Amino acid sequence: MAGETQADCLFCKIAAGEVPATVVHETETVVAFRDITPQAPSHVLVIPRAHYPDAASLAAAEPALAAEVLRAAGEVAEREKTAGSGYRIVFNTGSGAGQTVFHAHAHVLGGRGLEWPPG
Ligand code: 5GP
Ligand code: ZN
Repeated sequence: MAGETQADCLFCKIAAGEVPATVVHETETVVAFRDITPQAPSHVLVIPRAHYPDAASLAAAEPALAAEVLRAAGEVAEREKTAGSGYRIVFNTGSGAGQTVFHAHAHVLGGRGLEWPPG
């Protein structure tokens, strides 16, 4: 199912306020909250409220909503004061790439030097 809430999805529950999270930014369509296991001094996840399993399926079905996620990621970086020094937006897609929660989400990482290529 896509575009609706999925009852057993952790991030749908966070979007609905059923699971607590430290929300740093939200709009009608997206929510940004701190990652529970931060990998950088600033590590925020941006999700659409609607459920899509990954970024590509989100963009295919609702391109404007995918753009909202990216716009929110930029706003988070501004607020977190990482926009000036540089930050990274990551969409892990598939278990081989490290995706563990199958509700589309952007990691917004910053506040330290970020190596390239990523691990
Ligand atoms: P993925 O591995 O799918 O790219 O990213 C999932 C992210 O969700 C991980 O970085 C993980 O630390 C984070 N995460 C998992 N469970 C929770 C939770 O209950 N609350 C918050 N805030 N983050 C979570
Ligand atoms: Zn979901």
